[in-house]
Amino acid sequence: MSVASEIIRLRQELPAGVRLCAVSKFHPAASIREAYDAGQRCFGESRVQELLEKIPQLPSDIDWHFIGHLQTNKVKQLIGKTALIESVDSERLLNLIDAESRKAGVVTKVLMQLHVAREETKFGFLPEELLSYFKERKFETLTNTHISGVMGMASNTDDDNRVRADFAEIARVFREIAGDDSLALRGFDTISMGMSHDWPIAVEEGATIVRIGSMIFGNRE
Ligand SMILES: *Cc1c(COP(=O)(O)O)cnc(C)c1O
Repeated sequence: MSVASEIIRLRQELPAGVRLCAVSKFHPAASIREAYDAGQRCFGESRVQELLEKIPQLPSDIDWHFIGHLQTNKVKQLIGKTALIESVDSERLLNLIDAESRKAGVVTKVLMQLHVAREETKFGFLPEELLSYFKERKFETLTNTHISGVMGMASNTDDDNRVRADFAEIARVFREIAGDDSLALRGFDTISMGMSHDWPIAVEEGATIVRIGSMIFGNRE
């Protein structure tokens, strides 16, 4: 299957209201261009340097999503380049994004990364940590950051029940925050979850963005 035909097929299969983020990390600008020419506008990258090299090689109407672990010493370089930073995994990182966004005079949209999977990446907020962050209204100190929702990954396992339970947990935490009217959040409406091997389950559990890489672009080196 070509990149273009995979993009077209996925767009047909995804229900209305679920956006496709094509994860292009480790793939060259030429592959991204193929997807772009098939109409794809949202791409996910996990390394700051790689993203900064790709941006000038590609059209300016691409929405770049940063999806990898963001080191604090790279934040400044990234600010102003993304439509969405999906992988905010600590308060320290969030506060730094806010400070750098203020200095740059921009508002940065972010998702809070939840850690629910058993053995996957160690990064992200535990559900209780994220709920406390909102209950304690810590987001009120942010001036130049807009929290749009949550992002997460399921356990890397063939056990569909485990995967479904992880996605359900991410959606539950999202709903607990989004449904708390006392928080008066605006534009908190995004659940990013699901990758090449598990996206149909993520969509069933409420994903509004799926992040799909290898199914579109083939295997990474
Ligand atoms: C690489 C990556 C993906 C895409 O994974 P595929 O299995 O290639 O679809 C999605 N989300 C994150 C956070 C990633 O790092």
